[in-house]
Amino acid sequence: MELQRQILDLYAAVDREVAAAGPVCVASGRCCRFKEWGHTLFLSNLEAAVLLADAPAYELPVSADFCPFQKDKLCTAREPRPLGCRVYFCDPNYQLAAQQITEKHLRHLKDLADAHGIAWHYAPLHHFLNHPEAAASTT
Ligand code: SF4
Repeated sequence: MELQRQILDLYAAVDREVAAAGPVCVASGRCCRFKEWGHTLFLSNLEAAVLLADAPAYELPVSADFCPFQKDKLCTAREPRPLGCRVYFCDPNYQLAAQQITEKHLRHLKDLADAHGIAWHYAPLHHFLNHPEAAASTT
C-alpha cells in the first residue's frame, strides 16, 4: 500500500503541473481512441497496478484500438488513470510542457520501482488489461 500511496502522490504532483501549464481540452475524446488518432498509450507495471486496483470492470480481450474505460467521451477510470492519460492534451501550445512533465515523472516512477526492488516493465495499455498479472504488486 505504501507504493500505491507514493504513486498516487506522484499523480497529484503531475496534475498540479499539468494544471499550471494550462492546456486547453475541447473534450473531443480523441486521446482515448488510439487507432483512430494514431497513438498508443504506454504505461508501466506500477501504473497498471494502480489502474487495475480501481478501474471499472471491462470485457476481455481488450484491443489495441481504444480504451475500454472511455464512455461517452469521458474517462470512467479518472482517479487511477496512468501518467500518459494525465499529461495528454491535444492543445498544440502545450506539447513541450507535456514532454517535460512526462520525462520528469517517468524518471520518478522508475526511481520508485528501483526503491521497491521491482523490475520496470513498460507496455501498451491493452497488454496490461489482457494480462493483469503483468502489473506490479503494490501491496
Ligand atoms: S484510462 Fe481514461 S483517460 Fe486513459 S485512455 Fe482510458 S478513458 Fe482515456
